[in-house]
Amino acid sequence: MDYEEGDRVKVEKSGVEYEGIVMPSTTGHIIVKMVSGYNAGIEPEGATVTVVQKKTDMEEAAKKAVNEVKPKKGLPKVSILSTGGTIASKIDYRTGAVTSQFSADDILQAIPELTEIANFSGKAIYNILSENMKADYWQELARAVVEEIKNGADGIIVAHGTDTMMYSAAALSFMIDTPVPIVFVGSQRSADRPSSDNAMNAICAAKVAVSDIAEVTVVMHSESSDDKCSIHRATKVRKMHTSRRDAFRSINSEPIGYVDYSTGEITTGLSYVKRNERELALMDSIEPKCALVKFTPGSSPDILGFFIDAGYKGIVIEGTGLGHVSTDWIPQIERATEQKIPVIITSQCLNGRICDRVYDTGRDILKAGAIEGEDMLPEVALVKMMWTLGQIQNYDDAVDILKQDIRCEINERSLE
Ligand code: ASP
Repeated sequence: MDYEEGDRVKVEKSGVEYEGIVMPSTTGHIIVKMVSGYNAGIEPEGATVTVVQKKTDMEEAAKKAVNEVKPKKGLPKVSILSTGGTIASKIDYRTGAVTSQFSADDILQAIPELTEIANFSGKAIYNILSENMKADYWQELARAVVEEIKNGADGIIVAHGTDTMMYSAAALSFMIDTPVPIVFVGSQRSADRPSSDNAMNAICAAKVAVSDIAEVTVVMHSESSDDKCSIHRATKVRKMHTSRRDAFRSINSEPIGYVDYSTGEITTGLSYVKRNERELALMDSIEPKCALVKFTPGSSPDILGFFIDAGYKGIVIEGTGLGHVSTDWIPQIERATEQKIPVIITSQCLNGRICDRVYDTGRDILKAGAIEGEDMLPEVALVKMMWTLGQIQNYDDAVDILKQDIRCEINERSLE
C-alpha cells in the first residue's frame, strides 16, 4: 500500500468504496477526506488501497496549467492581493484542519476560469485568518492596493477571511480614493468541499474588478443557490450568518447590484462612483485606540469609565433601540466628551436609524455630547472613528467629519 498523506486514493473494504484524500491518522485507521467534505476512518485490515493521483502530481498539474496561461491581449489587468482566510486555504495534512496557506497564484491554479476574465498578477500580503487582522494591517493592505493601482492595475481583488472582512473593506473604503474597483472576496466553505463557494465568489469578484464600479465592494453569494453574487458597498455590509454561503447582507441599503453567475452580467440598482471619476489618493492614518462598547441592561458605567481612563481616543457605543443606554451611563458619556473623546451612539438593532430625540435617555445622551450614528453599522462607525481621528486631531473638526457622510455609510433616509 504505497500511499502517503495528501494522495487521492480509493479504499475498498467489504464491498464498500471510499475515495478521497488521505489525512493524517493517529489511530492506525486510514482516514480519507471524501468529496462530501466528511472524513471516513477505515480499519486497514482487509482494505485495499489504490492511489488515484499522487499529491505531488496533483500539485504539479495545477501549477503547469497556470504557468501555461499566457497573458491575453486586450484583457484588463487585475491584481489579486491575498490576505488569507478560507478562500486562500487548503487542508493541512498535518492537522487535518483548514489553514490559510495559499498564495495568490494558488488561487489561479484552483480557479482557472479566472484567466478568461483578466490577466492576473498577485501577491500574498498575509496568510492569516481574518480574526488576526489589525488596524496596522489595514494600512499595509491599503498601501499595497494603491501601489498596484499606480502600477497600472485596472481592478483589485482582495482575498480575505470572511469574519472581519467588513472591517477591512470599510477601512480601505475610507482610506482610498480609488479610480478603479477594489473588490473584497472570501468564502464560507473551503475548496475541498463540494458546496464550496470559493470559485463562484472569485469569478463574480473578477467580473466586478473589471467593471466600472470604482468603489470598495464586497462580492459574495447572494442566495443559497449558485445563481448570483451580490455587490455590497463596503460601508453597508455585514456578515450575518456563521456558515451559510449567503451570509453577507447589505444593511440599511440594497446592494449596489448583482453578478449573474451563468452569464457574468452585472445589474446595478444604486448609483455608484464610476471608473476614473476619482483621482487616486491614500489617506492611511489611523487611530487604533478606539473602542466599540456594547451596552447591556444593568451593565456598569465603569465599563465606559475604563476606556476613558485607559486613554482611548474615541468610543462607539452599541446602544439599544433608537440609540439608548441606561441613565447611569450618561455621566460617563459626558465625562468622555468633556475630555474631547468623541462618542458615537449606534444601535444593536442594526436595521434602522438612531433617533435620540424621542425618549428622555436619548435626549440626555445628546445633551452629554454624543453623536447620533444615524443608520451606520456599529463596526463601520468604529472604523470611521479610527480613520477620522487618524486624519484630524482637533475635536470639533473631527466631530464635524463624524457627522458627515463620507463613503455612503450614512443614508439620507433609511429604508422602512
Ligand atoms: N475565520 C476565517 C477568517 O475569517 C473564516 C473565513 O475565512 O471565512 O479568516
